[in-house]
Amino acid sequence: MPHHSNTISVIKLKCPKCHQGDLFLNKNTYQYKGFFDMPNNCSKCNQDFLIEPGFYYGAMYSSYAITIIINVTVFLILGLFLEYNIGLFLTIDLFVLLITMPYVFKVSRAIWLAIMVKYDPKAILKYEQKT
Ligand SMILES: [Zn+2]
Repeated sequence: MPHHSNTISVIKLKCPKCHQGDLFLNKNTYQYKGFFDMPNNCSKCNQDFLIEPGFYYGAMYSSYAITIIINVTVFLILGLFLEYNIGLFLTIDLFVLLITMPYVFKVSRAIWLAIMVKYDPKAILKYEQKT
């Protein structure tokens, strides 16, 4: 089971190993330029962020899961306030998906990396001792 602080580090798009380094160079999720850029290594603990070629293809699984959660959430919230209407649902759902897409993309990578890389509270210390 994911540790509580693991969840926080995923949401904040931090390195899964040290929970401090940033996974993305551009911290503004809604700025298009440099949107996909990740450093090769964590700036704090030197964790490899690329792991292997095509590593982040696996992130599409977490992205798919999050998209389903968003769809269901939109569906349920609409149901609380409005009569169900498929056209309205699709319109609002599409809008919500478009707005959340950049973050979903990033957080999917963060989840995928966190599945593969375990948290090490001493990661930064170890790296600093080596350099
Ligand atoms: Zn790190």
